[in-house]
Amino acid sequence: MTDYILRGGEVIDGSGGPRFRADVAIAGDRIAEIGAVGRAAGAREIDVTGRIVAPGFIDVHTHDDRALFATPQMAAKASQGVTTVVTGNCGISLAPLTIDYAPPPPLDLIGEAADYRYGRFADYLAALDRSPAALNAACLVGHSTLRVGAMSALDRPAEPHELTRMGEFLQEALDAGAVGLSSGLAYAPAEHAPPAEIEALAALLRPAAALYTTHMRNEGSGVLDSLAESFAVGRAAGVPVVISHHKTIGRDNFGRTGETLPVIAAAIAKQEVGLDAYPYIASSTVLSAGQAERASKVLVTWSKSAPEQAGRELAAIAAAWGVSVKDAVDRLQPAGAIYWMMDEPDVQRVLRFPHTMIGSDGLPHDFHPHPRLWGTFPRVLGHYCRDLGLFGLEEAVRKMTGLPAARFGLSGRGAIVAGAWADLTVFDPATVIDRATFEVPTTPAAGIEHVFVNGRPVWAAGKPSGERPGRVLRRQQMQAQHVE
Ligand SMILES: [Zn+2]
Repeated sequence: MTDYILRGGEVIDGSGGPRFRADVAIAGDRIAEIGAVGRAAGAREIDVTGRIVAPGFIDVHTHDDRALFATPQMAAKASQGVTTVVTGNCGISLAPLTIDYAPPPPLDLIGEAADYRYGRFADYLAALDRSPAALNAACLVGHSTLRVGAMSALDRPAEPHELTRMGEFLQEALDAGAVGLSSGLAYAPAEHAPPAEIEALAALLRPAAALYTTHMRNEGSGVLDSLAESFAVGRAAGVPVVISHHKTIGRDNFGRTGETLPVIAAAIAKQEVGLDAYPYIASSTVLSAGQAERASKVLVTWSKSAPEQAGRELAAIAAAWGVSVKDAVDRLQPAGAIYWMMDEPDVQRVLRFPHTMIGSDGLPHDFHPHPRLWGTFPRVLGHYCRDLGLFGLEEAVRKMTGLPAARFGLSGRGAIVAGAWADLTVFDPATVIDRATFEVPTTPAAGIEHVFVNGRPVWAAGKPSGERPGRVLRRQQMQAQHVE
């Protein structure tokens, strides 16, 4: 029985192909019919004339592991048309790990000690099953999380028995349904992990047909070496690699995506490689003196020691306190920050690259977050696609739907075809735009009119519907569907 008919819109199906005029009928959790759909008794008609009907967007780079519980309506993402989030990026996942002390940065970006309470990945996914969010979740296991759980000290390579333990944790997570392993080799908990440690763990991914994503060791002067290291992991383990939030940072490296993208393209010709990016020239993570030194401007996003400083510039805080920037960084710890350290032409070059997926990298628990948390997808659609003309709308949608669904093995999603899961976003191509700014970062976007997840509305009339139809997208279930 038909539940909804989206009447009179232009369908962009996620494949990159041209839009076409069609009605879309939803029955239960599936897309039932596309074309000239007749009236159906009991079906709710929604007039979407002049609007785009697209597959729901897939945010491939999130830190929403705990946000799915803390803010189950997921308004930051639903308001952008996102219907699926990939969690556990940059080496940090909420599971599998239990600790009774403050998590080392950057694990503190997603939770405090009490939040790390899932000793098995299966327990975390079961908790999501019991308490579903509005959006679907595909979950990565973080290498740094594995290290914290398995090692007695993090400032060295793993001992053989520790590596065995990490492998057991990872295998449990893969058996439970994790879609892959992420690393954050630029961060303290993982920077002493040699390539051999990553390759040993990545070897477990191949039998599971899972993938490896990486926040590389170096995105500055050493970016080419880091790309080579990342590709080598993929080749050694025989698994796909995703380069996270690709960029070249620091003034000395402005323009160098002109070097990195051809290197990535050459790798793609030989092995499975993907990449994601967010549409801003500022990054955001934990506050550190080293990062602050390389940025032209730093905005504090949260501070445990001085919470009232969130939203202020680091230089102004240091001046007000009459201390050096380095001392201000120490006094604010633990803390987070936004760093201006990219060049706009690099951001545009990476976004335009045909293999680039869109990922917000939003930090949902920051007090004064980077606007990418609420603005990424509408900013690509409105600012970069419509206003600057970087690419056509069909290509923008493909980067958010068909491309990531294929890369992460999300079968039956990221496409508008009969029989696919009814994850759908209806937006106005003339008005869609991000409204979250660095000053007021939690403002919902304009132009996203209806969002459906598994056939149920999660966002309409500028607010969450209150429904929570999201599902855990377990790797085995998706692979089984793929074979059908
Ligand atoms: Zn990262």
